[in-house]
Amino acid sequence: MIYLDHHATTPCDRRVVEAMLPWLTDHFGNPHSISHEFGRVAADAIQAAIDDLAANLDVPADNVVITSGATESNLLAIRGVLCHPRQQRRKLVTVTTEHPSVLDVAKEIQADGFDVTFVGVDDQGLVDQQQLASELDDDTALVSVMWANNEIGTIPDIQAIASLVHQHGALLHSDATQAVGRIAVHARRDDVDLISGSAHKFYGPKGVGFLTVGNGNRRVRIRPIQVGGGQQRGRRGGTMNPSSVIAMATALRLACDEMQAESEVRELRDLLWQTLSQQIDGLKINGPSLDTDSRLVGNLNVMVADIEGEAWMAATPEVAFSSGSACSSVDPSPSHVLTALGHSESQARRSVRFGIGRGNTEDEIRHAAGLLVESYKRLSG
Ligand code: PLP
Repeated sequence: MIYLDHHATTPCDRRVVEAMLPWLTDHFGNPHSISHEFGRVAADAIQAAIDDLAANLDVPADNVVITSGATESNLLAIRGVLCHPRQQRRKLVTVTTEHPSVLDVAKEIQADGFDVTFVGVDDQGLVDQQQLASELDDDTALVSVMWANNEIGTIPDIQAIASLVHQHGALLHSDATQAVGRIAVHARRDDVDLISGSAHKFYGPKGVGFLTVGNGNRRVRIRPIQVGGGQQRGRRGGTMNPSSVIAMATALRLACDEMQAESEVRELRDLLWQTLSQQIDGLKINGPSLDTDSRLVGNLNVMVADIEGEAWMAATPEVAFSSGSACSSVDPSPSHVLTALGHSESQARRSVRFGIGRGNTEDEIRHAAGLLVESYKRLSG
């Protein structure tokens, strides 16, 4: 089985597993019970891990909230900012191609009576900055724009968006789940106020993520979603898990140190495209062209002329890739990202996503491409 679905998740790096293991066995103290040595050891280790994580995200360590993953981080960012008791502004602006963990919270907030606007994108998936500018007003509390799209890999000019948002006195949140560990994500330098991430997307374990709250440039207040216990400066109650925080920080450090390996991922992605497009007539790329910097280098999203992505997947069980939206395959409706680009439902259903990662080899890509071409030809007759 060849794994080409690294946007859904990545395998946990063995070095990360090694770093976390002692914190499940030998050092089991509760990091919030600091009246004794067991707790203090765990608390110190968590603090060191958060310092490390924060340095790699270019944010003060006190501004990191550890969560269960990006779904929770996105919820905490949006509800947290909009529902803070001292928040005077009532408007959220976001983008039609965001992940459901942003869009569904936005719809909920709208049902609660907040003013919510969904800005469109161009045919590359880049946010329409003119429409964004026209939506920003004195009532806008928060703008949420993802740092890299999970389906088509689009990377917007986040610094330009931050500057536009701040001109109107609003805050910028970015769901950087697909960006963290793959491209540089710097809260202070890029001036993004809140950033969400999930460890399992950068070769860490599942069930742990982070939200950065403020980058030191302006004050950001969030109302907690999970209360009780007062942990994490009252921003998220509940006992922290040293092993997962240490694992996430280790995974991020390794990803940042080894980011140059992404250029190898680009070569593999391009090889996959070249091999498929030479043998499958009418194959088209969805989203930005492969040679731009506005696309994650491991991402390939393609549309075929005549068969559905689901059928192609079913006919190629030796290769793990995904059709439609599928960070989960729970929702069978055609990808909202592809339809936002202007594709018809039928075009969206004829599309598939490949996510190439660091473990992939040239041999795997050649083998996978051969299997994909073979199953495609069998299906299309
Ligand atoms: N945001 C993006 C862009 C994603 O790709 C995902 C992946 O599933 C999420 C948020 C949610 O992450 P998690 O399921 O780890 O909470």
